[in-house]
Amino acid sequence: MSEFDLIYRYFATKFPQRSDVEQGIGDDAAICNIPPNMQLVTSIDTLVAGVHFPLITEPEDIGYKALAVNLSDMAAMGATPVWMTLALTCPEVDTIWLQKFSEGLAELAQIHQVSLIGGDTTRGPLTITIQIAGLISFNTAIKRNGAKPGDNIYVTGTLGDAGLGLAAINQQVTLSKSANQYAISRLNRPTPRLQESHDLLGIAHSAIDISDGLLADLGHILEASNVGASLQIDNLPLSTVLCESVPYETALNLALSAGDDYELCFTTSQTLDSYTCIGKIEADLGLRCLTKEGDILTPKMVGYQHFF
Ligand code: ADP
Ligand code: MG
Repeated sequence: MSEFDLIYRYFATKFPQRSDVEQGIGDDAAICNIPPNMQLVTSIDTLVAGVHFPLITEPEDIGYKALAVNLSDMAAMGATPVWMTLALTCPEVDTIWLQKFSEGLAELAQIHQVSLIGGDTTRGPLTITIQIAGLISFNTAIKRNGAKPGDNIYVTGTLGDAGLGLAAINQQVTLSKSANQYAISRLNRPTPRLQESHDLLGIAHSAIDISDGLLADLGHILEASNVGASLQIDNLPLSTVLCESVPYETALNLALSAGDDYELCFTTSQTLDSYTCIGKIEADLGLRCLTKEGDILTPKMVGYQHFF
């Protein structure tokens, strides 16, 4: 099969078609129309086999996650994802793998109506790069640098589940069948919080998606905004599965540091019911983790870092 046939077979037809795509796959570059009064928001994320996902991960899940982590970056900005390009490096042309990978990718693309407008295909160690493009009304994006002293800090969903899934794969913990299914699905198929992010436009002062762990990612907000924070550790949203699978201290450490949850962490001066309030932004620099007894807790790890 030629590279051309391969692209058309797996990547040209099963993705949503959008009327704002003037030229999609098939020319030297893609052409898209940006509506007036909108800004283009772009981001790129690479998944390397064995680094960003375990080697045993199913191809459908790799496709799904590769897009999910990129959509999560759009959610963190308050942008609506519309187009993507895919750079795919594979060790060989494995048609079964490609079929399944493209199905997982297309499944999530259909849900959010994201069009695949081009890409690049090369031979080498399995690596998936997606560049996502989104739109946002002029000057309404939610950035990391807008947190203000007095803001409440919120997170969506629950934290630590993806870390539990990874610990199960690495045989650091043994889970019941249903707990394992839940944790692995949280690891492999994170839910990009696009609806929540849309609802937070005009409300959130700052936001980030939690890819490297709450402590590390909230740390980015604090640094960019030149503020500090107190976290109420006992208010962290933990799933029943997490609480029932590991001791409380382990659950807290996973929630604080494991990453890969792709929940949103955001700050706002408002009080909101739909999300969990985990602390407050303060003028004093630094991050203070407080227990409900008021003790200061020093967490064990500070997020996953690839090179440092
Ligand atoms: P060129 O040689 O001009 O770089 P290619 O032969 O690499 O072009 O690609 C031909 C067309 O197929 C282009 O429109 C490109 O964007 C698209 N394409 C290549 N690989 C992929 C892929 N993995 N997914 C989606 N589109 C792809
Ligand atoms: Mg060309």
